[in-house]
Amino acid sequence: MTAHAELQAVLDRAAAGGRITPQEALDLYRFAPLHALGAAADAVRRRRYAGTEHIATYIIERNINYTNVCVTACKFCAFYAAPKDGEKGWSRDLDDILKRCAETVELGGTQIMFQGGHHPDYGVEYYEEHFSAIKKAFPQLVIHSLGASEVEHMARISGVSAEEAIRRIHAAGLDSFAGAGAELLPERPRKAIAPLKESGERWLEIMEIAHRLGVESTSTMLMGTGETNAERIEHIRMIREVQDRTGGFRAFIPYTYQPENNKLKGQTQATIFEYLRMIAIARLFLDNVAHIQGSWLTVGKEAGQLSLHYGADDLGSVMLEENVVSSAGARHRSNRMELLHLIRAAGRVPAQRATTYEHLVVHEDPANDPVDDRVVSHVSSTAIAGGTAHPELKLIDAK
Ligand code: SF4
Repeated sequence: MTAHAELQAVLDRAAAGGRITPQEALDLYRFAPLHALGAAADAVRRRRYAGTEHIATYIIERNINYTNVCVTACKFCAFYAAPKDGEKGWSRDLDDILKRCAETVELGGTQIMFQGGHHPDYGVEYYEEHFSAIKKAFPQLVIHSLGASEVEHMARISGVSAEEAIRRIHAAGLDSFAGAGAELLPERPRKAIAPLKESGERWLEIMEIAHRLGVESTSTMLMGTGETNAERIEHIRMIREVQDRTGGFRAFIPYTYQPENNKLKGQTQATIFEYLRMIAIARLFLDNVAHIQGSWLTVGKEAGQLSLHYGADDLGSVMLEENVVSSAGARHRSNRMELLHLIRAAGRVPAQRATTYEHLVVHEDPANDPVDDRVVSHVSSTAIAGGTAHPELKLIDAK
């Protein structure tokens, strides 16, 4: 059999629902024709969502960045301020956070992503206080936030186990983990970009504890900081192995490194082709993960649109506020009307979803589209300038 025929045989097996090995995934990632990868991944998506395969989903959410003070100093990060950086560091008070939650509800958002630095004073108690206050005021908001890195940090500050930290913040109102901090799980690239973060094995161990406690999560991968193709495949192998045991990862979300305003000099972003190949390989390799999400915020609208033809079934969010990847140079903006148009132009019917992926509104008829143009994705100008000042609060009035 020729090399081409061998690759096609693996693709055919994967497209038919067969499991592929890490080595097969690496071979496909390196050598399979892009269109053939996309066709196989799309076949998997269509079979998995038979009956609703014409739909692509999105969610309306708000990132709430509660502090930029962080002791972990990841080299790819343009958002954080070290405690010694004095006035560059900021934290929001609870009233400010609740105001942002109120705006989210007013605009039809269903989810908040509480996201911030590893503040040296914020232990489990800080998150308990904030999550319980948010849930008390806005029980309808889903708190889909944080990840294993924050758990490791808060548990250390409070002197408790990761399991106790998870139990307590879950009891206080955390619904699910956003999977933040996965970056790259294999040791070499992780140490190169985030030397002070917990190991990839520990990140997965904490996620596994969470899943066993009934707290599900998404999973992510940061592409383009100098990792090898083999390390990218190793990252998804590590996720698949845990998922075989827990089933707790709802989705996989690769996104691309943004190179501005940080300490990783001279590294290139992953190309759009690499990104699309990863979306397709993820759909083929992660046969135990339900959803693959395209990330238009970092790769742009057209690439996000293309991802829907390479295995993605979800296009992420209309994010009412985002300051983290934007600080590092992500420039792409969207409002809901535009996102609906993008999804339709990609040949799909858009549907607003819940955190757990149920369809809330299927936008079958463009004539019935919502006309509220205040639902915009917005990033503060101060964050774009480098994240050194406190982002302005009043961001989402599009008038
Ligand atoms: S990525 Fe997160 S943990 Fe790393 S420096 Fe930035 S805020 Fe801190």
